[in-house]
Amino acid sequence: MNVTVEIERRGEQPKPEWVCPSCHQPARMRDVRANLSVCPHCDHHLRIGARERIRQLVDEGTFRELWGNLTTLDPLGFTDIETYPERVREAQAKTGLSEAIVTGTASIDGTPCLLAVMDFSFMGGSMGSVVGEKLWRASELASGEDLPLVAVCTSGGARMQEGILSLMQMAKTSCAVDVINEATSPFVAVLVDPCTGGVVASFATLADVCIAEPGARLYFSGPRVIQQTTREALPEGFSTAERNLELGHLDAVVARKDLRVKVGNYLRLLGGGEEPDRGDGQGPRARGKGRLAQAALDRARTLATYARRPFVGGDRPPADQAEEPPARETPS
Ligand SMILES: [Zn+2]
Repeated sequence: MNVTVEIERRGEQPKPEWVCPSCHQPARMRDVRANLSVCPHCDHHLRIGARERIRQLVDEGTFRELWGNLTTLDPLGFTDIETYPERVREAQAKTGLSEAIVTGTASIDGTPCLLAVMDFSFMGGSMGSVVGEKLWRASELASGEDLPLVAVCTSGGARMQEGILSLMQMAKTSCAVDVINEATSPFVAVLVDPCTGGVVASFATLADVCIAEPGARLYFSGPRVIQQTTREALPEGFSTAERNLELGHLDAVVARKDLRVKVGNYLRLLGGGEEPDRGDGQGPRARGKGRLAQAALDRARTLATYARRPFVGGDRPPADQAEEPPARETPS
């Protein structure tokens, strides 16, 4: 004889699939995903990984990853409760990424570009030597190929395990932006939650156009540190994208669903409303911009032999085989 026992639990609501961390309303996971990981009730933008970001931002099937083989070395032999290489391996296993930034070429709303996308879930998006190096290479290639650069920035700041070498990436990535500027290639930065520390204090805020997602927290030092240092209450909305827009630190706050079209518009606008030169003699290179781009690329290559390594594993020769660049001539 078969006996079916039904247990009725009175007064207990079934646990919802997903609850918004901002408005605490429940929703189905698939609805949240279909809404680009934005809460369907209150528009709270959830954090997303680099792969998902690329999927949302670029034209389908256009992303080609570059320098995915670069991994960090352990220049300081750093150990806390785990060794640095162990932490990196864990982050790689967790995210499926080799580092906290993914770089490559893509097309955004029809405009080809170099793309650099950071991932906060890889060691807090911290900027170690490899993040700096990949950003440098993306800038170098953008300059040489007359393409715009788009960077999606999210970071907790420096990578402690690389000490001073991590802080040096602020200077290196700022120089990378200088190279893009010299080549007059457009640079658009999209700041997403959270974007802090050394990244917000270097390349993320040096772009031609700086935009952010709604509600993103953007600051150099966190609210607690500032309050403890100044012993003053912080204004309402401190560090949010909206507040930064009011203060003139941003050009726009753009909802995730509009990002692809807005970034595409900026790229077309900054590119003079024309497609970049694809070697058919019709683009900016034909108007004389190629010479600038070439000069910037030559300079970047010279600088690069010195500015890099020996802290980045992958396909570069070690530092002792790199030549120091000649001093730049100073006008007399
Ligand atoms: Zn919500």
